[in-house]
Amino acid sequence: MDWTVENWGSTSADYPLYDAAIVVDSRNVPVIAYRNGTPMDVAPAQFFNNFDALLKAARRAGPSDPVPVHFVHSLAGTALIGAAAIQPFDLDPSMKPEDFYVLVFAKHITPQVVAEISESFNIAGLSLDAYPIPGRLEAMLTDVVGNKVAVFTWPPEAPGTKSYAMVEGDLRTAGTVLVLFLCGIGAAGAVTVRILKASESRSRYRSLHDALTGLLNRAGLIESIAGASADANLDEAAVKLHFIDLDGFKSVNDAWGHNVGDELIVAVAHRLTDALPENAIISRLGGDEFAVVTLENPLLLSSSDVGHQIQVALTRVFEIGARTIEIGASVGVAISPDGKIETGELIRRADIALYRAKDLGRGVTVEFEDSFDDDTNRQADLEAQLRTTLTNGGIDVSFQPLIDARSGAICGVEALARWVTDNGDRIGPDVFIPLAERSGLIDLLGLQVLKKSLLSAASWPDIGLAVNVSPLQLKNPRFVKQVTDALQSAGFDPGRLSIELTEGVLISNPDQARRAIDGLKAAGIKIALDDFGSGYASIGTLRQFGFDRMKVDRSLIVALDHDQNGGAVLHATIALANALNIPVTAEGIETEAQATALRLSGCDALQGYLFSRPISAEQVTELYFVSSRRDHGEEQSAA
Ligand code: C2E
Ligand code: MG
Ligand code: MG
Repeated sequence: MDWTVENWGSTSADYPLYDAAIVVDSRNVPVIAYRNGTPMDVAPAQFFNNFDALLKAARRAGPSDPVPVHFVHSLAGTALIGAAAIQPFDLDPSMKPEDFYVLVFAKHITPQVVAEISESFNIAGLSLDAYPIPGRLEAMLTDVVGNKVAVFTWPPEAPGTKSYAMVEGDLRTAGTVLVLFLCGIGAAGAVTVRILKASESRSRYRSLHDALTGLLNRAGLIESIAGASADANLDEAAVKLHFIDLDGFKSVNDAWGHNVGDELIVAVAHRLTDALPENAIISRLGGDEFAVVTLENPLLLSSSDVGHQIQVALTRVFEIGARTIEIGASVGVAISPDGKIETGELIRRADIALYRAKDLGRGVTVEFEDSFDDDTNRQADLEAQLRTTLTNGGIDVSFQPLIDARSGAICGVEALARWVTDNGDRIGPDVFIPLAERSGLIDLLGLQVLKKSLLSAASWPDIGLAVNVSPLQLKNPRFVKQVTDALQSAGFDPGRLSIELTEGVLISNPDQARRAIDGLKAAGIKIALDDFGSGYASIGTLRQFGFDRMKVDRSLIVALDHDQNGGAVLHATIALANALNIPVTAEGIETEAQATALRLSGCDALQGYLFSRPISAEQVTELYFVSSRRDHGEEQSAA
């Protein structure tokens, strides 16, 4: 998702080739929809005419067929639009084209674009019109179903027959004069051609260069890779492509604004130009991404380590105005021996290597390895399995009892998702929850866990049910409605349900979190802050969002036994929450000593292996409800 937004969505802000980027899933639901660098506020199907027909055409086209490209009416005017199914290199016969996601790019034909076309192609007087205009030449623009969308028109270069008839008489006289001027015209013509050539090369320059830094842009990079590959092929050299992403650039932009951000980008461009060998081709791909292409002769022992040079150059501080700014860079490298790797593939490899580098932290250079693709394939494989499991409703739920600190009786359960694959492998939620988040399956998974938990917990007496919710689920505007609908159809009292949220979303997206939390609370659902103490959330956060409960993270409880101050920190944390009237659950309790310490500190609910591991719904019923009723019954009959 991050990759998609960064490479396609955000790029639509200032990329010469498109201003809208949309990805839809197999049900034509937009996964991302960006225009001019920001999310679209109108559904693409409403924004573009005949959008569904275009998607259909894209899925119909085979992997080697041309991509359907058409013109289209949009709410913003006339656009050129292209759509292609996202499909693997090797088509698996079991995959149906209607299951593919589709990537759509669109470029609006603004007056500026018309002016650029007019200049690039030397068509004076070009205009975009609704209908053909008599006396002007035309090129009709049609949409995906063949309807006329608009028409380019321009004046004919040759004098029309009508005007010819008008000037025929004068022309004869002028003919004689004309001969005298022939030489002069020849000279003037040469000047005109030169001017035209200059303007042509100006517009070509613009289309290949980044306006801010004057470096090559993405289109320029692609051309330069092609050139370098051809040279490498002749010289038995290798093309080395380095993708650079600045570490910490976003916070510079956030703290000091875009002007400072722009100045920093220009400074980075200068720094790279000064630090790298003269034959390095440097480009800016947009935002804070740069690329460097070098040709390396493998026979030369002192083949330069450009990745290292980039790192060294960018870790030195930058002075922007009165500010001293420290950034750094992550670098992904891909190598094309003899220039034999196709440009698109080389870019893909550098991109994957860059993502690895970013994953590893700041200031790292990573070179692409074939095993990265194996990892990617394994991930894709696991994702496909998860998708199937979810479609078949095959995610299981375990329940871990929550124990009342005073009475020792069960007071609730926490639902925990469980996945056993068809091969019988147990995959932990620490693996499949992030996978579901990355692949857009988390909404489905979350809802399935919620529904199954409600179904099981409905048969238990009035104990609470806690369900974990991923921050990404809060992004879904229908989330609150889905939860209340599920409660209603299960006939479950909303007051018994609590939703556990981790703090990440509160910090990264506070408005979104607040909207969802307010909606859930309005429905009578309780909200708990999970894993408190594992990150940055403060007591202030607890207050600000009105949490009903806090769960102290296991790490604080483990610290009881290992850290001198552990007890004091834990005690103070719980005391603060209690001072705000927020009850506290302690999770991950494994020993009696821990349980006692937590009871004394003021936790009112306890959870951990000491009391019970997560167990099946049937076990919960059997252990806590059937047997207690039986005991109760026996007591009564004894009495
Ligand atoms: P969590 O919500 O903090 O859940 C508590 C985790 O601690 C569970 O791990 C539980 O099995 C484990 N645990 C409980 N008592 C003890 C103990 O005494 N010692 C130790 N070492 N561990 C204990 P689990 O089931 O592997 O879940 C891990 C995380 O995955 C959960 O942390 C939660 O954040 C996430 N998760 C699980 N199910 C779901 C789900 O349905 N949706 C979402 N969004 N996340 C889920
Ligand atoms: Mg939890
Ligand atoms: Mg937790």
